[in-house]
Amino acid sequence: MPTKDFPKWDGQPYYPISRFYKNRFGEKVYKITVSAAQTCPNREKNKGVGCIFCDELGSAGSHLIKHHPLDEQILINREKLRKRFRVNKFLVYFQPFTNTYRRLEQFKADVGLALSNDGVVGVAFGTRPDCLPDEIFPYLKHINNTHYISVELGVQSFANEDLKFLNRGHSSEESIDAILKLHHEAGVNIGLHLIFGLPNEQDRDIIKTAKIVNDLPVDNVKLHNLHVLANTPLHDLYKANKFSPLELDEYARRVVLFLTHLSPGIAVQRLAAVAPRWDELVAPEWTKHRLKPTQFIIKHLKERELFQGISVAENSRVSS
Ligand code: SF4
Repeated sequence: MPTKDFPKWDGQPYYPISRFYKNRFGEKVYKITVSAAQTCPNREKNKGVGCIFCDELGSAGSHLIKHHPLDEQILINREKLRKRFRVNKFLVYFQPFTNTYRRLEQFKADVGLALSNDGVVGVAFGTRPDCLPDEIFPYLKHINNTHYISVELGVQSFANEDLKFLNRGHSSEESIDAILKLHHEAGVNIGLHLIFGLPNEQDRDIIKTAKIVNDLPVDNVKLHNLHVLANTPLHDLYKANKFSPLELDEYARRVVLFLTHLSPGIAVQRLAAVAPRWDELVAPEWTKHRLKPTQFIIKHLKERELFQGISVAENSRVSS
């Protein structure tokens, strides 16, 4: 397909979530990250040891404010974003741990509080595919009638052997069931967190992941490179030379492969992980940087005149 015919997203070769927010809300929207949940089932079942990559903060960057009450966290972060980016609309993002694990009533209260704040147009929250109790679906559907609500599912991989390596404690089948149920029973926006750079990962696995995502009712994806944080089980594997994280150029190559096979209608929240605490990042060093990996991947796409979904379009043209 000639590149001039391909969808353009503010000049970017992929569909960034910022473009999705602008379409949906008519202006820029930023996420206010907050910390409310304190644990997850994986840690509880395994005596404190959860997924092999996860640090003590539950894969979160909001450690500086987690001891503040929720309303203060919202206020502090909202005002920072207002000053820095001159934005007026926000989503409150409940990031760390498993927000729907054994705290449904508290979760509902937290969502209600978040939505009552000035400028807040919706919420997003992180959870696991195996932590969506039946009673949550009517509640999410109810909220979704009046507000934007996005569920960010920690899927990480659709290959059960990868999930086992990561010690996720759930299966690919459970992820697919959760996505379908969220779509059919609640109608909410669905985002998936995915990890690349797993041992033995082949190009065909990456293409397969894109195809699975394309076939599911998924609205956005957040991509992470598997990186090593101090005092995690992955750190032990790294020290024993049993795991090496990808260098940026190889990670970029895999992300480009994924994006070219990803449907152009699925927004992308993030192209690579960013380590919020440099003191606990062991490797790779490039994960420190917020912008450099994203810019590198975009350059890689542009230099090759590639776009998100270009292979999907080519394949469908061949088969039509
Ligand atoms: S990534 Fe999520 S599920 Fe895994 S140990 Fe961390 S908080 Fe628990």
